[in-house]
Amino acid sequence: MQTFGSVSDWDQRQMTFSLTTDLKTLNYTSSKFPIFDELSNKEHEQVVMCSDPDTGLRAIIAIHNTTLGPALGGTRMWNYKNEEEALRDVLRLSRGMTYKSAISGLNLGGGKAIIIGDARTDKTEALFRAFGRFVDGLGGRYITAEDVGMTEKEMEWIYSETKYVTGIPKALGGSGNPSPVTAYGVYMGAKACAKKAYGSDSLEGKKIALQGAGNVASFFAKHAAKEGAKLYISDIYDEKAKELANEVGGELVEPDDIYGLDVDIFTPCALGGVINDDTMNQFKCDIIAGGANNVLDEEDKHGQMLLEKGIIYAPDYVINAGGIINIASELEGYNEERALNNAGNIYNTITDILNYSEEHNMPAHKASNALAEKRIETVGKIKNKYSSNADISGRMGSMYKRFID
Ligand code: NAD
Repeated sequence: MQTFGSVSDWDQRQMTFSLTTDLKTLNYTSSKFPIFDELSNKEHEQVVMCSDPDTGLRAIIAIHNTTLGPALGGTRMWNYKNEEEALRDVLRLSRGMTYKSAISGLNLGGGKAIIIGDARTDKTEALFRAFGRFVDGLGGRYITAEDVGMTEKEMEWIYSETKYVTGIPKALGGSGNPSPVTAYGVYMGAKACAKKAYGSDSLEGKKIALQGAGNVASFFAKHAAKEGAKLYISDIYDEKAKELANEVGGELVEPDDIYGLDVDIFTPCALGGVINDDTMNQFKCDIIAGGANNVLDEEDKHGQMLLEKGIIYAPDYVINAGGIINIASELEGYNEERALNNAGNIYNTITDILNYSEEHNMPAHKASNALAEKRIETVGKIKNKYSSNADISGRMGSMYKRFID
């Protein structure tokens, strides 16, 4: 079996691959410390390999940045081809969480975990409880949540072993399904884009092409329809789209026709990669604002193309941050009204990003990254100031506590 500890294994594989969305490639033949190099390149703080042969657990927890607070991010269960692919995914996703929390004004850092395995066949109580113990061992530096391949049941098992879990069921005092809050954030983000494009944030009379008729799309459609928007709805499941269209007085559209409609706003709420070489020439909309993750097929290339075409784009990880805003609310005692209010602030965040993008003539996703980095830097600096109330543990902490007690 190949291990990360063996440099010669890496050398033999002669791999060159991209660990990041900015397509920076790493040559694993050129360094004796490729993993440490990558961690320092993208400024990851800590990566924990978790192994428990008794339960078959193989997991990786990546903590990217904790300047703003504990690293929060979901646990994904996936049948990775090999550990290199698993490591690549967890590093990429944890870094994304740092930016998502930072731009959303949360006092949280970025982290993510992956469990290697088949989500249909490899789930056992003991495996998830073993994973929970590893999370607990980090003492709150990493807080986990649900992600792809996980359900409430597994989150409950993890919660049996650690309190560092969010997004737990309502019955256990958690926040439950995040989709209504995510959808509200998408709706407010779309309104901010409308304000930029048309001078008014009203969606009344606006034509919206909605891709997907699932959880987020349905809640979004109700908000938009209530305000008088006209919705054109597609889903690969006709019945779902039809049902939603009936409910909100929308029109049914064939999935392939959704990109080229003559509408004001395109709202992707289904899958990633939908802004790509094929669809780019079809868009007739002024705005792209939706809940789906990773909608830019090639982030830099297609982000730049949208800028050149004059299409206003609400960066996906900002406009769909209602989900993390919702689970972050659990940390201070969940209150749905407060979670919705906080998600509503996505309106202001998107406005700031669009203004920054315009001022600096840069694609919106880059503007948003720049603003997130600025927040981490400036808030990080205030932490250099000594406070006698700082809750610091460890040697320095105990020394300071002598003055407090
Ligand atoms: P969902 O599974 O409830 O809905 C997705 C819908 O898209 C399904 O009805 C599916 O049939 C449809 N679909 C799939 N491929 C399609 C295609 N080619 N054309 C049209 N429809 C298609 O998922 P969801 O929870 O509503 O999430 C939607 C998107 O938002 C995902 O990308 C998800 O990662 C993202 N997101 C969701 C949340 C949340 O709180 N649920 C938070 C952040 C991001």
